[in-house]
Amino acid sequence: MNRNTNPLVRVAVIGAGIAGAACAASLREAGLAVTLFDKSRGVGGRMATRRAEWLGADGRNATLEFDHGAQHIQARHPRFKAAMRRAAAAGVVAPWSPQVHAAWPAPTRRESWVPLGSMSALARHFMGDMPVQLNCPVQRLQRSTLGWQLVAEDGSQHGPYDQVLLAMPPAQAAVLLAGHHDRWADHLAGVPMQPCWTLMAATQDLDWPWDACEPEAGRSPLAWVARNDRKPGRSAPAGVATWVAHASPAWTAEHLEDSPAAVQAALSQALAALLPRGVKLQWQHRSVHRWRYALPAERPAAASTECWWDAQRGLGVCGDFLAGTGVEAAWRSGDELADTLLAALDEETAAARPLVKPAPVAAPLLAAAAAAAAPRVLARAA
Ligand SMILES: Cc1cc2nc3c(=O)[nH]c(=O)nc-3n(C[C@H](O)[C@H](O)[C@H](O)COP(=O)(O)OP(=O)(O)OC[C@H]3O[C@@H](n4cnc5c(N)ncnc54)[C@H](O)[C@@H]3O)c2cc1C
Repeated sequence: MNRNTNPLVRVAVIGAGIAGAACAASLREAGLAVTLFDKSRGVGGRMATRRAEWLGADGRNATLEFDHGAQHIQARHPRFKAAMRRAAAAGVVAPWSPQVHAAWPAPTRRESWVPLGSMSALARHFMGDMPVQLNCPVQRLQRSTLGWQLVAEDGSQHGPYDQVLLAMPPAQAAVLLAGHHDRWADHLAGVPMQPCWTLMAATQDLDWPWDACEPEAGRSPLAWVARNDRKPGRSAPAGVATWVAHASPAWTAEHLEDSPAAVQAALSQALAALLPRGVKLQWQHRSVHRWRYALPAERPAAASTECWWDAQRGLGVCGDFLAGTGVEAAWRSGDELADTLLAALDEETAAARPLVKPAPVAAPLLAAAAAAAAPRVLARAA
């Protein structure tokens, strides 16, 4: 949809995960001048794939891959379902129905999607050819009469922008909002996020009947184990199995500051304990990653809407934690923030347009239209 919205509106979206990519894509499609920023080397945020060089005992070498953040995507909301169907038609995602061994209920098949190639492919698909500044950790925001300036960790300045939209975990957004919107900053600083230690491992291939496993809570340090090489579009060298194992939030919280070596040893042992008796794993690669902000524990108390936007300041916030949990929540929050901003700009444009030969409209109808339009914007200025 191109609403011919004023292209002179300059928007900075900070955070190129799914929320930021969805938000930026809608704004750009509507004609706004959007720039995305991310502190990482690539886009996708917690939808990430780690690669590692592997040298086999027989001298073969290959690149191993591990989806060490989000595992798969479930789509329930009609708009997100439609977005995933479009991504599937473009060859970006493929359906995945993993056979999951769960202690309770009985083993199940889950209907889900997996981006092909790497998990970040979905964010790249949403972004298209949009300008994105990578390796750019935004450290602070500055506001002047010209608009917003972003100050990066290396001191470089970017701007000015009319609107700054934050699409990142709440604790990180709180740092940037402090001094500009203290009420939001205080709320966000208190939003609990669950951490997650992740083991990435390669072993000999073995006859494991499941694609994934969800150990019973409290029985294992692990909450999720997947055979990465069995996901659509993934592979491993012949004779090799690749594993991604997520520790439970409780175990991670207890071991958050442990050394990577200690965590690797503990999670390797936990993985081995889930396999049939007598199977001895031959480790060919092992590494761990700590996600400090993996999944929201709950929505912030002040979140009655799926995004926050403040018209006066030109500030917005989106992210999974405002709309629930997971990739779908992140997408919905980003998409909603774009819609909210575009609706407000449409109203501004309509209000500024000179009336030429206004058609006769009954006064009560006009009043009803104005009443219906106004709260849509105000309701989101939390
Ligand atoms: C281990 C794990 C397993 C998961 N499993 C699933 C699953 O199976 N299914 C599912 O649906 N969801 C899962 N999730 C959750 C899912 O990954 C997230 O809900 C979703 O990706 C969040 O997207 P987002 O855009 O809100 O945030 P993020 O993906 O966190 O994106 C935020 C971006 O902001 C950038 N950023 C932060 N601060 C700054 C700054 N100051 N300057 C510049 N850039 C900055 C970051 O680099 C990042 O790219 C999992 C997450 C983890 C960690």
